[in-house]
Amino acid sequence: MSVVQLPSTRHYWREGTYIEKVASTMTCNKFEEIKRFLHFFDKTKELSRSNENYDKLQKIRPFLDVVRKQLLKIPKEEYLSIDEQMIPTKAKTSGMRQYNSKKPHKWGYLNYVLSGASGFSYDFDIFTGKHRTDLPENCLDLGASGNVVIRLVDTVPKNLNYKLFIDNWYTSLPLMAYLHTNGIPPLGTIQLNRAKDIDLPSTKELLKNSRGYCIEKCTEVNEVELSVTSWVDNKVVSLCSSYVGKEPMDIAKRYSKEQKKKVDVPLDLLDSMFGLYRIKIRSKKWYIRIFFHVIDMITVNSWLLQRRRNRQKGNDMYMPLLDFKLYIADVLMRETTGVFTPTTRGRPPLNKNIENIQKIKRRRIELPPREVVEDGLGHWLNWAKDRQRCKNCSQKSYVYCSKCACYFCFNKDRNCFKEFHMVTLG
Ligand SMILES: [Zn+2]
Ligand SMILES: [Zn+2]
Repeated sequence: MSVVQLPSTRHYWREGTYIEKVASTMTCNKFEEIKRFLHFFDKTKELSRSNENYDKLQKIRPFLDVVRKQLLKIPKEEYLSIDEQMIPTKAKTSGMRQYNSKKPHKWGYLNYVLSGASGFSYDFDIFTGKHRTDLPENCLDLGASGNVVIRLVDTVPKNLNYKLFIDNWYTSLPLMAYLHTNGIPPLGTIQLNRAKDIDLPSTKELLKNSRGYCIEKCTEVNEVELSVTSWVDNKVVSLCSSYVGKEPMDIAKRYSKEQKKKVDVPLDLLDSMFGLYRIKIRSKKWYIRIFFHVIDMITVNSWLLQRRRNRQKGNDMYMPLLDFKLYIADVLMRETTGVFTPTTRGRPPLNKNIENIQKIKRRRIELPPREVVEDGLGHWLNWAKDRQRCKNCSQKSYVYCSKCACYFCFNKDRNCFKEFHMVTLG
């Protein structure tokens, strides 16, 4: 549905705008019903607003926790940044909606993300409208924006050459010193009024200089040496860091280059990747919007992981995000709910044409790739009405795998099902 967008979900089943892939998977009523009963939370454990542990996101928190736990298992990359995402919404009810004029969707829930230069989201923290006061142990309280950073870098391994890029909403001298002391060298754009202790000329004075002019000043904050470099381009760009050398021109050039590459690009990248094929299913429940956003995030992450793995194998080819999404949908539709069998599929076709297309498709059920065959999830043995050839040994069998949609021997002599699904190393 995020690939082929129609005005309402009913349109996917309606004659004229019928989408076979969607409509043959389940009936419209079933889809609506699943959506209606989609809950992530045990209502008996609901906390009232007056409770000190009250969490505005409690209705979706169990789901967010599961996703975060998985994200934290992924090894991070060298260049990391803190980004903001908007989860678009029109719902005004939850009191969590924020406004950001710089984003394509100006109203939405704000999601702080620890992302890599590749666009991968390693951790996230959805803003509930009130700044959190909890901090990891032994951390300084560095105000609303600083604390967002501190919480998100808490899971970044220390002293292992990870570098963090942040923009001027977050950057302050104490935060930079804190990050450096904690083994994550930072680089950030900074507003000069946040670096008052440093004796730098004002923006106005700096702009009197010609383009390319550059000045660097250093200061010590909590025993950490920080450098602030102001560089005159079309406007004044000031950068603050703890880990670079002292040749201002060089630094500034490299900074502005890196800053464009490493800070701006992932941000744009994230926005554009999420914008493409965003799930746009409507719902009256506000937290369903967050659920779909997180699903989008996981999808983009999976796609990037697949690329990373291919590259490690020396293969730079990758599937476009769109095809990857369709591929996931395909595999998920192989998960049986009892409706799907290899010979009969979904709802009866609406007209002759569709029937013909379906016949062709039915014949062409291909094996899923090895990753899916070996995933150990949802491969169930089922009995079919008629026998077909076993994928493993070509003898005829009544038994098929619900996910692979292929027949296998499973009798006292042979267990082709097991043989076929066993993990092949390497
Ligand atoms: Zn067999
Ligand atoms: Zn299978």
